[in-house]
Amino acid sequence: MEHGNPIKLNNYKHTKIIATIGPSTNSYELIESLIKAGANGLRLNFSHGDYEERKQQILWIREASEKLKKPVAIIQDLQGPKMRLGDFIGTINIEKAQELRFALGSDYPESGIIPTQYDLSKKVKRGERLYLADGKIICQITSVRDGIVYAKSENSGVIIRRKSINLPDTDFAGDVITDKDKRDLVFGSTQDIDYVALSFVQTEKEIEGLRKILNNLGSHSKIIAKIETKSAINHLDDIFYASDAVMVARGDLAIEVPYESVPIVQRKIIGLGLEHCKPTIVATQMLHSMTDSPEPTRAEVSDIATAVLVGADSVMLSDETANGEYPLEAVKVMKKVIMYTEKNAPLKTVFSEATKHNRQAAISRAVNNLAISINAKAIVAETQSGHTPINISSLRSPVPILAVTNNPKIAQQLAIVYSIKSLIRPVNKLTLDRLTDWLSQNKILSKGDVIVTASGKYPGIVGTTDTIKVRMIE
Ligand code: PGA
Ligand code: MN
Repeated sequence: MEHGNPIKLNNYKHTKIIATIGPSTNSYELIESLIKAGANGLRLNFSHGDYEERKQQILWIREASEKLKKPVAIIQDLQGPKMRLGDFIGTINIEKAQELRFALGSDYPESGIIPTQYDLSKKVKRGERLYLADGKIICQITSVRDGIVYAKSENSGVIIRRKSINLPDTDFAGDVITDKDKRDLVFGSTQDIDYVALSFVQTEKEIEGLRKILNNLGSHSKIIAKIETKSAINHLDDIFYASDAVMVARGDLAIEVPYESVPIVQRKIIGLGLEHCKPTIVATQMLHSMTDSPEPTRAEVSDIATAVLVGADSVMLSDETANGEYPLEAVKVMKKVIMYTEKNAPLKTVFSEATKHNRQAAISRAVNNLAISINAKAIVAETQSGHTPINISSLRSPVPILAVTNNPKIAQQLAIVYSIKSLIRPVNKLTLDRLTDWLSQNKILSKGDVIVTASGKYPGIVGTTDTIKVRMIE
């Protein structure tokens, strides 16, 4: 990638935006406009769409990113054991305290059994809760016999085909990667994908399982753990150790745990992300009303600002850009709110720096402190794994971070990490002095700019960053 346009180091958003591609954004032009408007990551939701469509979208994204000279992260979001009702015609009215029956692919009007797309009878137990249509109807499972799940409704409501089912009490441990997910992973491994997001994670075990599958497929995708179950909340620390990034998947999360707990869980996850040096993403309904309105609500603006203030790396749009009427407006609104918030309020992080005692953390702190005290224009981190810039970013440094790498995949993966701008630099120019020349030749920095550089004797080997220099661009 050539760097034709100078990067604006004085005025850019530090918190990143992820937008979901769907019917509303399914063309080269729309994808290019999303990136231009401020999207840093694009999510492909594998609950929908076919492989041909996905292949085409990936090509469009790479073409637009190349044209705009802006690395973009592509996220393959796996459906996981997201359960839905099966097909039936019309609506079903459910009364309070009604006895209901559910079975895989049943014929509804004939049998009176409500069809599901997944055999629940193998997983659920008597006494567990079953939620229908995003939690609108709450049922209690009374028994499971011969492949049929019997349940009693606690309130009334109407359902239509394919509505969602949530099972907040059911233990799926070790079994969240479905056969469909496995097929999708095989497809993904043939594509230029940067992250795989795993839905309905229960514990770190599933992340480790996914890591093995990706390794066997020869994939270099990083893993995003989607936190949307009660079990995941009870295993947060271990999930952070096992994964590369973590998403607060508030859509399902607010059904699986009491919704009033979600804001606190969100803050906890963002705080842990800063402590573990792992990027975090806040997702779902951030600009929900913009699905069919050109203006956000006050509450939505406040929600984005809050995510920025407590230190999320990325904020995400789902339906707003996938199915909404105002996909570009939604990205523009997000960018505007992020920029204003960052400019007008110093970031108050919610973690204690003192807990980090390893060498990598100490070097990152030294780089950050040095850059602040000499009022550096930028911190320049040479990296082949992305670790050094992510570590510095986790300190929420006010100084812009430039990650210089020869690996385009790393540049793409860093696109959704707070504050980091990546530059791809040919392999044959690895010495430090030439790096400053290269930065000025490419008009990324100009004469007189002072920078702090972090590099290592063994680029690519994690934890070997050991050299900090102050340089003036000549
Ligand atoms: P989904 O995940 O959009 O794939 O359901 C996000 C969420 O549940 O919030
Ligand atoms: Mn979800």
